[in-house]
Amino acid sequence: MEKFLIACRACGAQQPYTKPGATCPECGAGWLDALYDFGRFQPQNGHIHTTWVHSLKKYGASLWRYRDLLPIHDDRNIITMGEGWTPLLPAQNLGLMLGHNHIYIKDERQGPTGSFKDRQAAIAISVMKEAGITEAVVSSTGNVAIAYAAYCARAGIKVWVFVPSSVPVEKMREVALYGAEVIKVAGTYDLTKQVAAEFAASKNIFLDRGIKGIAAKEGMKTIAFEIAEQLGMIQAGADPMLPNGDQHPWQTPDWYLQSVSGGLGPVGVMKGFAELQQLGLVQKAPKLALFQPSGCAPMVNSFHKGLTKAEDVADPMTDIITLATGQPGEVYEVLYDLIQRHGGTFAAVTDSEAFRALRVVAEMDGISVEPATAVAFAGLFKLIHSGVIAPNEVVVVNCSGHTFPVEKQIIGEHFTRDMTVTDEDITGRQRSEGLLTALEELDSRVHRIAIIEDNPDSARLIRRILQAQGDFLIDEAHDGKTGLQLIQQHAPNLIILDLMMPGLDGFDIVEAVKRDRRLSHIPIIVITAKELSAIESKRLSGKIEALLQKGTFMDSDLLSDIRQALP
Ligand SMILES: *Cc1c(COP(=O)(O)O)cnc(C)c1O
Ligand SMILES: [Zn+2]
Repeated sequence: MEKFLIACRACGAQQPYTKPGATCPECGAGWLDALYDFGRFQPQNGHIHTTWVHSLKKYGASLWRYRDLLPIHDDRNIITMGEGWTPLLPAQNLGLMLGHNHIYIKDERQGPTGSFKDRQAAIAISVMKEAGITEAVVSSTGNVAIAYAAYCARAGIKVWVFVPSSVPVEKMREVALYGAEVIKVAGTYDLTKQVAAEFAASKNIFLDRGIKGIAAKEGMKTIAFEIAEQLGMIQAGADPMLPNGDQHPWQTPDWYLQSVSGGLGPVGVMKGFAELQQLGLVQKAPKLALFQPSGCAPMVNSFHKGLTKAEDVADPMTDIITLATGQPGEVYEVLYDLIQRHGGTFAAVTDSEAFRALRVVAEMDGISVEPATAVAFAGLFKLIHSGVIAPNEVVVVNCSGHTFPVEKQIIGEHFTRDMTVTDEDITGRQRSEGLLTALEELDSRVHRIAIIEDNPDSARLIRRILQAQGDFLIDEAHDGKTGLQLIQQHAPNLIILDLMMPGLDGFDIVEAVKRDRRLSHIPIIVITAKELSAIESKRLSGKIEALLQKGTFMDSDLLSDIRQALP
């Protein structure tokens, strides 16, 4: 029995697998899928555990633990750098800010070359090695190029990488570092793909067919396997970094979120969930939320026009080059169909919304992503705010890639604090004093802010927003009595106050501050979890500068209220 068969999406014909890169022998169409023989993994005694899950126990923590459902026949052909089994991280601070407790980040930055394209490359290059291929052509908006160049280096395959000339020079440099041939095409990504295909045909070199071929989708489906396995661990209260196997039931999240360009990620992920359903390991597939930058959003636009075939964007207008695919072609039809069947939506975000989200995710949860990934986070914010994603739904965001160095437009020019130390400071008699002054000048905090909040998570969120964005000296108290003492002692420039606290509550503090002539000028911003009654609103009216509802405001809302309130 073959390990898997090849099925044509267009005509349905099934064939034994012979070599990578083939088209359908029946109709000549390009889109092929690997079909595994699940008969080998029948459920035992009606229990959800299958022999496949048992077999995982012998494998370690990489995507190769799923090798019995991957298109490699001999383990010796596996080219690996430990890709896969990336962490599934709860988004704690971000979740607090958004008022949503079930956001998980699949941290694909932790792949060997820093993006989820490592999965695609690991499988595709291993498949090439197994087929005896020693030279290949690939086109890319950046990250596929880097991943393929690295894995080809290990596999001893010469690779020609075609990229549009708009790809950041740092990425091209990395591709070249791995010894790949880098060909810059002055034109769109869609044109680049055509040029690469022509080059491969004219030189008779193997052309990687990306989403249409087998390997790429098989690589991406391992994201679904990992999410389901790890979510099962998390929901059972176990350590999600330990491979689960059959210890706990696997789980499907309600949503899978990703920014899309060619659309390979969600297509592969949904193939993964479909296979898990066939194996009886999960009951459903997630809803898809797919995001594109508004300057290049052919799939989003087509979806909202109700089109079943994509309308191309001839001239992409976005700085987020990773996502600048203007002609999605057949993949749009596949995604459209998946969303009809399983639910979900497409949405666009502007480049500047993405750059803002990039900073928020970095500042809130310590996760630095590339702009393409930030598009997914900006989309997450949008769908939570608009209520499309409900508060009780489990959301997994594909944190698809890291970036170094951070692009210029996100941080601007003045991201360092310059420390000037003169020669005299170093050599003169006043040395230590001079240095001390210079060091002190590094700290320009002038405003003192008191946070009075009994919920430690909320206090942490507010502190984090202030730390990341402003020059503030922060005092914190976790109950009303200590809070009032703090205010009396320091007379801060601003008070950020919770209302519901045991003992002395927020209302009492507002009244005490306003009664005290020394303190009555201090502006107060109230952050509350409760809807105020008419009487309560009246108690605060005229006494506070702003009122924010927990879980509904973004860092920028709080900061702009603070700036308005500060003298
Ligand atoms: C490739 C890529 C995407 C888009 O992925 P597709 O599923 O191929 O559309 C998003 N983010 C990053 C970082 C990528 O490298
Ligand atoms: Zn066919």
